[in-house]
Amino acid sequence: MKVAVIGAGTMGSGIAQAFAQADFVDHVYLCDIKQEFADGGKSKIQKGLERLVSKEKMTQEACDAILAKIETGLNAIATDPDLVVEAALERMDLKKETFKDLQENIVKNENCIYASNTSSLSITEIGAGLKHPVVGMHFFNPAPVMKLIEVIAGLNTPKDVVEKVVKISSDMGKTPVEVKEGAGFVVNRILIPLVNEGVQIYADGLASIEGIDNAMKLGANHPMGPLALGDLIGWDICLAVMEVLYNEFGDPKYRPAPFMRKMVRAGLLGQKTGKGFYDYSQKPAVPNMDI
Ligand code: NAD
Repeated sequence: MKVAVIGAGTMGSGIAQAFAQADFVDHVYLCDIKQEFADGGKSKIQKGLERLVSKEKMTQEACDAILAKIETGLNAIATDPDLVVEAALERMDLKKETFKDLQENIVKNENCIYASNTSSLSITEIGAGLKHPVVGMHFFNPAPVMKLIEVIAGLNTPKDVVEKVVKISSDMGKTPVEVKEGAGFVVNRILIPLVNEGVQIYADGLASIEGIDNAMKLGANHPMGPLALGDLIGWDICLAVMEVLYNEFGDPKYRPAPFMRKMVRAGLLGQKTGKGFYDYSQKPAVPNMDI
C-alpha cells in the first residue's frame, strides 16, 4: 500500500513515520509546499529513529528500512497513493483547495481514499463539492506513539470508506474509535473544556498554578494537570478549539476563559514560546509568576 501524507509539520512527520513502520505500507510520500519543509519532516523522523538505535531499542537495519520507504517532495509527487492523509494547516479554505487539487490534478488512482487529520473542522464541509469523499483520520501527538485514531464520518462520507480507514488504523497497530461528526469529535470536546476550566479556576484565584495541576494529577489520576497540558498543546490551539465549540453549539458552557485569550494576546502560548503558565527557560519548568 502507498500512502501520501500532505504537510510535513509536527503531525505530518509523525504520521508518515507511523505508516512507514507498518509492514503493509511499501511507500510513503511526505509532501509539503517546499522541498526543504518536506526534507525537514524526514530529518525529524530520522533523528527520532537514530535516538532509538543509539538506545538499542531499534536495529540500524530497521531504521534504514523505515527511512527508505519515505520519499519527500511537493504534493505533485503523490500520483498513485492508495490513501491520502492531509495534515496541512487547520484552515478550511486550504484543506478544500488541497483536496481539490489532489483529486483533479495529481492523484491518478480512482480508488484512493482521502482522509484529513483535522482536529476540529467539519469533515462534511471539507468533503462537500469534491469528486471523492473525505473521512476524518485524527491522530494524536506524537503520532508514532499515541494509540488512538478517531475515525470521523461526515454526513457525506460513505460507510465503506469509514470501514476501510478503521481497518487500516487497526492494521497499523492503533485503536480506532468511530465518531460521527461533531465539533471537537470526542477527545477535544471533553479535554479542551477541561483545560479551559483550569484556566478559569486560576483566573478566579481559587488555587495556584501548581495547586490546580497537582489537584488533577493526584485527585483524578491525570498524568498532567490542565495548565501544564495547555502549555504543551499551545494556548492558541486551545483557544481555537474552544471557539469552534462555542460557535458550533452556541452554548455558553463552551465560552473560552477570557484569561486564555489574554495569554494568547501576550504570546504566552506555552512550551512553543518558552512561557505559558510555566516558564520553560528553567529546567524543570517553574510557575511563571509574571501572569
Ligand atoms: P504544522 O504547522 O506543524 O505543519 C503543517 C505543515 O503543512 C507545514 O509544514 C506547512 O508548510 C504544510 N502545508 C501548508 N499548506 C500546505 C499545502 N497546501 N500542501 C502541503 N503542505 C502544506 O501543523 P500540525 O500541528 O502538524 O497540524 C497539522 C494538522 O493536524 C492541522 O489540521 C491540525 O489541526 C491537526 N492536528 C494537530 C495536532 C497537534 O497536536 N499539533 C493533533 C492532531 C491534529
